[in-house]
Amino acid sequence: MSNQDYSVKQLFEMGACTNCQVCADVCPAVSASSEGELSAIYRMKGLNQVLKSRAGLFRRLFGKRAPSEEEWKRFSNTVFRCTLCGNCQEVCPVGIHLKDLWLSIRQDMVHSGHYPKKIDMIRENLAEDHNVFAEDNEERADWVEDMEDPPDDGYIKEQADIVYFTGCTAAYFPLAQKIPIALAEVLEKSDVDFTLLGEDEWCCGFPMLGAGLKEMFEVFMAHNLSVIREKGAKEILFSCPSCYEMWRSHYPEEFRIRHASQFLMELIRKDRVPLKRLDLTVTYHDPCDLGRGARVFDEPRDLIRAIPGVRFVELPNNRENCQCCGGGGNLEMVDPELSAQIAKQKIEEILRTGAEAVITSCQQCVRTMLTYVRRNKVSLEVLDVTQLIRRALRQ
Ligand code: SF4
Ligand code: SF4
Repeated sequence: MSNQDYSVKQLFEMGACTNCQVCADVCPAVSASSEGELSAIYRMKGLNQVLKSRAGLFRRLFGKRAPSEEEWKRFSNTVFRCTLCGNCQEVCPVGIHLKDLWLSIRQDMVHSGHYPKKIDMIRENLAEDHNVFAEDNEERADWVEDMEDPPDDGYIKEQADIVYFTGCTAAYFPLAQKIPIALAEVLEKSDVDFTLLGEDEWCCGFPMLGAGLKEMFEVFMAHNLSVIREKGAKEILFSCPSCYEMWRSHYPEEFRIRHASQFLMELIRKDRVPLKRLDLTVTYHDPCDLGRGARVFDEPRDLIRAIPGVRFVELPNNRENCQCCGGGGNLEMVDPELSAQIAKQKIEEILRTGAEAVITSCQQCVRTMLTYVRRNKVSLEVLDVTQLIRRALRQ
């Protein structure tokens, strides 16, 4: 174990915490569980204790004892029961980069052996199958066969200007596969030439950083870069905000990258997507990685407003203040009950708007909210914005 998982900047930033507790007030894990120990401020205090207790300068200066096994367990419990939604960072008045800090702590906890057993499962799945769900990676593009009119080449081309990077969730979960199907059908209608990577697409790396497996991510990044170069592509298109945010923040700036909402809005502005009227009242849920992360707030809303007949009502907590759906940060794997409790809060907020459907721009948000809605027989439609556009497509 060591303090080398933290940058000097992070160590300085921690010292700036004023204990104001604003971060605890906006944390969905705290409000859903009523456990103050899940808050950013508690985690900051725990980290301070860990850093000071380690051998070296801190220990000599402060004479701190090492945390007991029980203390490690409590600290690990707060580190991994977090959706990495970034709401704490958004409101922190002294500007501490809390989300990066949460990733560094997870890295540290894995290096020092204090992590949930599920992390080993994530690591094994990725090492063996190159996706987080232990599915056969050769079946990554099998969703194409479920399209109304699948193309002969299955959208796997030798060369193309645009690569559509689908991501693990959309590739394998039937609830989420409707999103790449919808996007492919809209792209087809708009004459956009694109290719999939099929079995050559490996996980983008987001679950690895969330699990503290940074070294593994570097191998996956090198692979994905090399297969995209082989296609001769200039641009990568993402419908998953976490994949998009990974490429935006952690991959080299080699290709143009766009989220599907940005790409589709440009097509609509160029009159390449013929739309019919839909009679529907909707609200919009900003996915954490697309909104607070990549600051893409307008394009999904513009897409909704572009459809004639659709009435749009904002959630009380919207844009940078949007509350997480519970699906982020590998929380669903580590603590599915807490993830479902956060989803419950989200659905209750949505229902208060009177909307018939909640629109989002993320396959994981769709999966989390739809799972809750179906299990609890809630009368609410959950759609990705690509599915909404597909529904409004004039044939
Ligand atoms: S990232 Fe989200 S869930 Fe995690 S501590 Fe911050 S506000 Fe809470
Ligand atoms: S909001 Fe920032 S300054 Fe305030 S307690 Fe949380 S981490 Fe510290």
